[in-house]
Amino acid sequence: MRAVVFEKFGERAEVREVPDPVPAPHGVVVRVEATGLCRSDWHGWMGHDPDIRLPHVPGHELAGVVEAVGADVLDRRPGDRVTVPFVCACGTCASCAAGDHQVCERQTQPGFTHWGSFAEYVALDHAAVNLVDVPDELSFATAAGLGCRFATAFRAVVAQGRVAAGEWVAVHGCGGVGLSAVMIAAASGARVVAVDVSPAALDLARTFGAAHCLNASGVPDVAAAVRELTGGGAHLSLDALGSPVTCAASVGGLRRRGRHVQVGLLPQDPVVPMGRVIGLELELLGSHGMAAHAYPRMLEMVRAGVLRPDLLVTSTITLDAAPAALEAMGAAPGAGVTIIEPWA
Ligand SMILES: [Zn+2]
Ligand SMILES: [Zn+2]
Repeated sequence: MRAVVFEKFGERAEVREVPDPVPAPHGVVVRVEATGLCRSDWHGWMGHDPDIRLPHVPGHELAGVVEAVGADVLDRRPGDRVTVPFVCACGTCASCAAGDHQVCERQTQPGFTHWGSFAEYVALDHAAVNLVDVPDELSFATAAGLGCRFATAFRAVVAQGRVAAGEWVAVHGCGGVGLSAVMIAAASGARVVAVDVSPAALDLARTFGAAHCLNASGVPDVAAAVRELTGGGAHLSLDALGSPVTCAASVGGLRRRGRHVQVGLLPQDPVVPMGRVIGLELELLGSHGMAAHAYPRMLEMVRAGVLRPDLLVTSTITLDAAPAALEAMGAAPGAGVTIIEPWA
């Protein structure tokens, strides 16, 4: 099969022929119809992820068709339209038994712990636990974005963030996950302040329901600006980019007893104003994808048209264009979602 392969961290990947994957007894191989380009792929390519062994094929936001089925998989057939969470759970550890598949103790992640979906085919583990059916009316391109950014944003806003109608929600960083969070928070009845340095990203945020759009590049104190716009601070705030600056601005923009959810990956642990966390009784939360069994509620909102992940897809590229696009991700995460179509 053709795949995007890199041999060294930070050096240009190339598209070349590699052996086709074979399914594990509990797994499947999926023919990749669409796969999202994500900042996490860039972090992996840069060497920020300790799970990655070289040479490597990135890609973890995918949708496609089951091609081959492992011997122990009884409920799947070739031809099934599927997607997966980027965290593939084992289904049997203590966390999985508690329903917390997103923090599985023996998780695998395509594109990190093994070769991913910037390829014509990808192997996925524990199919019974992780595969999610993609409804016919949902395109593969739209479904590809659900497994990482949209589901992560959904869990961050709804489950971890406990958003309530009428609350102020600040979203720092309006790339794919941030714009998803804006849309989900607005659909939940919250008033959203979107923060970014890109006018194009903020235009999209406005389209997706942000009440205020704050261009951080012209603002000396973003946290103070958020507190002012929200009459004292956000109830819930997300760092959807993952940088020391956006993390600090997110925590600093909260009101008393506010909740910060860290969604964007950070290359290094940031300095967090813990005095403020204590004095204002702030909550600091993480969010790590979303279990496959939590998808139906989100998919129902998508089916009803309340959530429109299709609007987040801003460009579609071929496998051959992926290495350069991966490299460009570091300089400019970009507004919206780029989808790679390996068979295009
Ligand atoms: Zn991702
Ligand atoms: Zn597990």
